[in-house]
Amino acid sequence: MQRLLIMKYLLTHKTHPTADDIYNELSKRMPTLSKTTVYNTLKLLAESKACLALTLDEKNIHYDGDTTLHGHFLCKECMTIIDIPINEISLNREESSDYTVDSMEISFYGRCSACQKKRM
Ligand SMILES: [Zn+2]
Ligand SMILES: [Zn+2]
Repeated sequence: MQRLLIMKYLLTHKTHPTADDIYNELSKRMPTLSKTTVYNTLKLLAESKACLALTLDEKNIHYDGDTTLHGHFLCKECMTIIDIPINEISLNREESSDYTVDSMEISFYGRCSACQKKRM
């Protein structure tokens, strides 16, 4: 039940929330929800590949309900994470008989357009 709610939150919020973000939002509606449950559920969902656990922000793990192939851009000023479309042809099927790929993270770092404008 709680697991479903967390998964639903991930699928409807494309903002790449952290476990804390999800806990803060869901605990408003579900006061019995514990932080440990949220953390454990997210870990489980990521392990079963129902969601992505992104480590591009070294302080926080961000979760992503979109498990299709795409890269991420992290703005170093406002810490916003933006989805980046990836050309599937060059990256797809990296698997061979020598190894299998369990996870892949494509990360870009820089300044988003809003932060660039602020500087001008
Ligand atoms: Zn920014
Ligand atoms: Zn994403």
